[in-house]
Amino acid sequence: STMPPLLSAIANAGRHGVLAKSAVVMERLGRIDTVALDKTGTLTEGTPRVTDVRPLPGTDLDEDALLALAAAAERPSEHPLARAVVDAARERGLPLPDAVGFSSVPGAGVTATVRGRTVQVGSPARLSTTSAEEPHHGPVADLESAGRTAVTVLRDGAVVGVLGIADRPRPDARATVAALTRLTGRAPVLLTGDNERAARHLAAEVGITDVRAGLLPEDKVAAVRGWEAEGLKVLVVGDGVNDAPALAAAHCGIAMGRAGSDLALETADAVVVRDELATVPAVVRLSRTARRLVV
Ligand code: ADP
Ligand code: MG
Repeated sequence: STMPPLLSAIANAGRHGVLAKSAVVMERLGRIDTVALDKTGTLTEGTPRVTDVRPLPGTDLDEDALLALAAAAERPSEHPLARAVVDAARERGLPLPDAVGFSSVPGAGVTATVRGRTVQVGSPARLSTTSAEEPHHGPVADLESAGRTAVTVLRDGAVVGVLGIADRPRPDARATVAALTRLTGRAPVLLTGDNERAARHLAAEVGITDVRAGLLPEDKVAAVRGWEAEGLKVLVVGDGVNDAPALAAAHCGIAMGRAGSDLALETADAVVVRDELATVPAVVRLSRTARRLVV
């Protein structure tokens, strides 16, 4: 073809199911030597399911009431965990009360007013105290040890229950980690806002040993900036609002398209439109070939 190599590379990436936003992106992708992967929605399928509903003893809530309360607050959120909670409530046929004044904090959770009371759903570490004396400590530790993501539900500031949520690794996650390791000479790093135990559980399943857990969006950015300051060229792959700042800070950012948040899709340099993680090492390989043809 008479097309310049980087433009042909864009076309080839498109055939592989990756939309690169410019020729510069293909050039940059060919230079990356370090890969950081998000967990939920990136290494995992992003369709987590509620496995456990545990009202704390002593509250007036049974399982259904706890789930309905959490789902009411989560309904406006586009986070995969929020969808899991809302779907679980729908499957039980629970009517959801109206929620007003919704807000969310990436990497932490959501807040809304339900029936005049403030309801929060999210990370036990970010929303509540995690001291061993707290009544939710036991259920949270049990669920996390089993590889689940535990989220606490608070009403007017007090924890009223814990939900356990489980997500499967993508079928091509392990092969993708292996391919990226071969391409860069070092294993990818897992960057996640989730808890350390769930993160290590998932990492072991896909062949990752370097795990940075409990990160806020700005912590993901700090990790990327740290590597870049050492002269490394980092590729970040993510899907969430919480990944957007890291996608922007990296040498190159790729967003997972199907479940990806609008902010991640807008911020990333390239988008995986065919929902397969294995397209990521494929386009890195393409970009390297294209660069060799240019220089
Ligand atoms: P990841 O980096 O794995 O994609 P996030 O940064 O999106 O994870 O979320 C980190 C943690 O914050 C979750 O494990 C959960 O505890 C909490 N969280 C964030 N958003 C929500 C939400 N909408 N509902 C419940 N928990 C949430
Ligand atoms: Mg994510």
